[in-house]
Amino acid sequence: MLGLGLRAGPGGGESRRSGTSQPFVLPDMDYAYDALEPRFDALTMEIHHTRHHRAYIDNANRALAAHPELRQLTAEEIVRDLAAMPAAIRETLRNNVGGHLNHALFWQVIAPRAGGEPDGELGAAITDAFGSFGEFKTRFTQAAMQRFGSGWAWLSLHDGALRVHSTANQDSPLMEGAVPLLGLDVWEHAYYLGYQNRRADYVGAFWSIVNWPQVAVIFAAAKRA
Ligand code: MN
Repeated sequence: MLGLGLRAGPGGGESRRSGTSQPFVLPDMDYAYDALEPRFDALTMEIHHTRHHRAYIDNANRALAAHPELRQLTAEEIVRDLAAMPAAIRETLRNNVGGHLNHALFWQVIAPRAGGEPDGELGAAITDAFGSFGEFKTRFTQAAMQRFGSGWAWLSLHDGALRVHSTANQDSPLMEGAVPLLGLDVWEHAYYLGYQNRRADYVGAFWSIVNWPQVAVIFAAAKRA
């Protein structure tokens, strides 16, 4: 259609559910802002969702409003092929469409009464890739701690293999050809009210609220794509 060399996204239904079709909309959460207390406090969750995430969405929609030729692209398609985007809005799309996608995933992969370890195919794949679940946690924690400044830690599927890595700012693993399965926001806005400068405590608390059944659903969809 546009000759942008886009690859097919993983399921249009999922895109609609996550609000990744244009215009982008703020996805509802499946739980209340205070549901993750005391790990993630209610005020941080509310500000993070209604102000930070909404700002990425508003900025992205504003930039795209002047480009009807891009109207049919999903958020995933835009960040997978940033080089094909108009130069004047490329950096805005990188930061804000990336920010929308990263946060839309983040709200899905945390939940109350969660944590523990993944079982089934995902649990086996993590053990295969990293040796043990504990070793995976160690590597993911290192990725989160060693990301200087603002960014994200990730478990991604890259060319069929699980990979732990981090990205700067709001860059998405999709920009590197990887599919994000689990992400942790390590911007200070994600933890400063509850943890101040103590990023390690925030990362430690994260393990108690990881929604492994949902990560398994995302993993299964990524393998089919
Ligand atoms: Mn954030």
